[in-house]
Amino acid sequence: MNFVSTRGRTPTTSIDDALAAGLAHDGGLYVPETLAALPAFAPQPTLAATAQRLLAPCFEGSRLRDALDALCDEAYAFDAPLRPLAGPGDHVLELFHGPTAAFKDYAARFLAAALSALRDDEGDTDIVVATSGDTGAAVAAAFHGRPGFRVTILYPQGRVSPRQAHGLECWGGNVRAFRVAGSFDDCQRMAKAVLADADLRARRRLTSANSISLGRLLPQMAYYAHAGAQHLAAHGTVPGFVVPTGNLGNACAAVLAQRMGAPVGPIVLACNANDALPRYFGGADYAAQPTRATLANAMDVGAPSNFERLRHLFGGDDAALRAAIVAVSVDDATIRETIRAAQARHGIVPCPHTATALHVLETLRERGDARPWAVVATAHPAKFETIVEPLVGAAVPPPPALADCLARPAHGEALPADAQALREALLDD
Ligand SMILES: *Cc1c(COP(=O)(O)O)cnc(C)c1O
Repeated sequence: MNFVSTRGRTPTTSIDDALAAGLAHDGGLYVPETLAALPAFAPQPTLAATAQRLLAPCFEGSRLRDALDALCDEAYAFDAPLRPLAGPGDHVLELFHGPTAAFKDYAARFLAAALSALRDDEGDTDIVVATSGDTGAAVAAAFHGRPGFRVTILYPQGRVSPRQAHGLECWGGNVRAFRVAGSFDDCQRMAKAVLADADLRARRRLTSANSISLGRLLPQMAYYAHAGAQHLAAHGTVPGFVVPTGNLGNACAAVLAQRMGAPVGPIVLACNANDALPRYFGGADYAAQPTRATLANAMDVGAPSNFERLRHLFGGDDAALRAAIVAVSVDDATIRETIRAAQARHGIVPCPHTATALHVLETLRERGDARPWAVVATAHPAKFETIVEPLVGAAVPPPPALADCLARPAHGEALPADAQALREALLDD
């Protein structure tokens, strides 16, 4: 399979070159040139086996092709269970059983295993990540202790939950975490500035683990395909998915899995008060909005970077895209109410992100929708204990991997919101 830019002004590219480049040279995002459905999408016994089957055509001709099965075994070493909820046809797809208790573990671990397999002996690579919480922790966990890599995390001080902050600072070794005196946008600006700094690039090998990379997008197809196949085998029907959405990476992966012939039904985007997508899907022209801080902080995105990719997957046809996908905005008061009532109504305690999707499911059922649906649980509620615990009136104990990380000392360093300060930190060993 070859890849092209959404902007169509770069040559057709192999997966290896697309992974190395991150963003296409014309500023666009890489998408598969053609997407043929796999001849027969047979259910596989494990998530790793499903990933191997789906990713094999993407990595045809890649230097990673022979290593792909081992990469998948490593990246998908923990399950993504599809569990029934209290209501008929209602399910939850739990993506929080990895080391940092959020779905970003799958793709970060795949990317780390892939970059390790491609590593040469020409010195260390610095991975610079700006994070609003979950990405940085997943990337840190995935690269921690890997020879040949150093990770530098930038996160906005005071804008992530206390447990999220600890999850960013608990690594040490080849991982450095900086709490930046600024916003997430400041962190992103600093990361972009150092990645574009020619003088620094001459002295250090720098790369990002940005969510627009194909290395983050493609691995996320696997859990949709696996859950869909399980549902089909058990009930004879293909489930739809309600996806908590920020930058649209996770939902784009669901669309790609569907195009490859996996049993993935309708896709609904659950957004927080950042409503650029709900406005567009409601019929307005697409327009980026200023970012608003909400309880579902990992979805606080005013300009979803994968929108360009999603539109391209529909041939730029807005009517076709709007006919295929629905997006709903859920405000903070509704997120609170959904968390408070979830145990009694559905039998689970959701994180604030998952709560947006749970609310959308409730709305579908109120309107008489009888199709099978899976709510995608993107993080464990214990990661957001300061929000969730007062609402449910009980302690939410962290899962074992997160508890291990919380038990280790934190090693964060303060950094001004200034690219020059970051440059100096990167040069200072
Ligand atoms: C990153 C994240 C999201 C949003 O995912 P996108 O791929 O950016 O749409 C949702 N929930 C949680 C917990 C996240 O960490």
